[in-house]
Amino acid sequence: MKTILVIGGAGYIGSQMVKLLLTTGCHVVTLDNLSHGYRDAVLGGDFVLGDLANRTELEHLFTRYTFAGVMHFASFIEVGESVRDPGKYYQNNVACTLNLLDTMVAHGCPPFIFSSTAAIFGEPQYVPLDEAHPKQPINPYGRSKWMIEQILTDYDRAYGLKSTCLRYFNAAGADPEGHLGERHDPETHLIPLVLQAASGRRSQITVFGQDYETPDGTCIRDYIHVYDLCQVHLLALEQLLTGKPSVVYNLGNGSGFSVKQVIEMAKEVTGRDIPVVLGQRRSGDPARLVADSTLARQVLGWQPQYADLATIIAHAWQWERRHFKR
Ligand code: UDP
Repeated sequence: MKTILVIGGAGYIGSQMVKLLLTTGCHVVTLDNLSHGYRDAVLGGDFVLGDLANRTELEHLFTRYTFAGVMHFASFIEVGESVRDPGKYYQNNVACTLNLLDTMVAHGCPPFIFSSTAAIFGEPQYVPLDEAHPKQPINPYGRSKWMIEQILTDYDRAYGLKSTCLRYFNAAGADPEGHLGERHDPETHLIPLVLQAASGRRSQITVFGQDYETPDGTCIRDYIHVYDLCQVHLLALEQLLTGKPSVVYNLGNGSGFSVKQVIEMAKEVTGRDIPVVLGQRRSGDPARLVADSTLARQVLGWQPQYADLATIIAHAWQWERRHFKR
């Protein structure tokens, strides 16, 4: 039985990944410091409370287990916070990841799946964005992820560490079976915030800017279901395990929805009123981010199962209602 290490397996995407890996019969080990994750979100396998900042702990972990693959979800993800406190982002997202990579090199270079982001591209020069789009991140969060992508290229060349970088566009939705969902604190993402406004946990949703160069003036994003994202991780891991070279993929559904369209869809799905306030632009938001995921579809044979926005929102709504008893 293969043993897979999931770092950040108690978080929003990591916990969904642990659940999916368990269905494939893998032995899953979750490493999480529970700074942002929840112990009860880890539905099986071994749980290790620990931190990538601690190299001795990492050394023990890699001595105790022989990992067939490693997936890394444990990053800080708030763009605004990364601008205010870049040290926190470079420390966690870069320095801690380096600790991990060096430990992996010392333990036989297991294949590595890295959670990257559309934020590495910065302001789009064309849309949809393919893998070759220039990388000019405009905030420390995006730069921290782009640094690791470049470091991975060097580690492959020098040490033979094989990796797949998965550049998520807007991860959204919840476990289709309703057991897991988004529990960020504070929450900054559009869909959970809109649903909190629908359920009454929040009084309103603020639309950040209506003067963008888009048909309705609000920002357009490409929302991808968290389950579909995890499916790509599985496919990517299988490819690396068969000895395929390192690779990067952009991951989205290829269709963009504006903030206003998301709110309208949420009204339809929930049947609830959603109070909306029109606010100022949030700094660092490009007008339009849509993925060209042709490569992932062609090379990995990836087929998203929950590509439509209504289903993505319905699953997130199911979680909001069940978990928060609304
Ligand atoms: N957004 C908004 N109000 C909110 C949160 C987000 O209008 O309370 C907008 C945000 O400006 C962006 C889109 O919704 O255009 C998606 O933002 P989110 O933070 O979910 O993801 P991001 O695109 O930043 O990764």
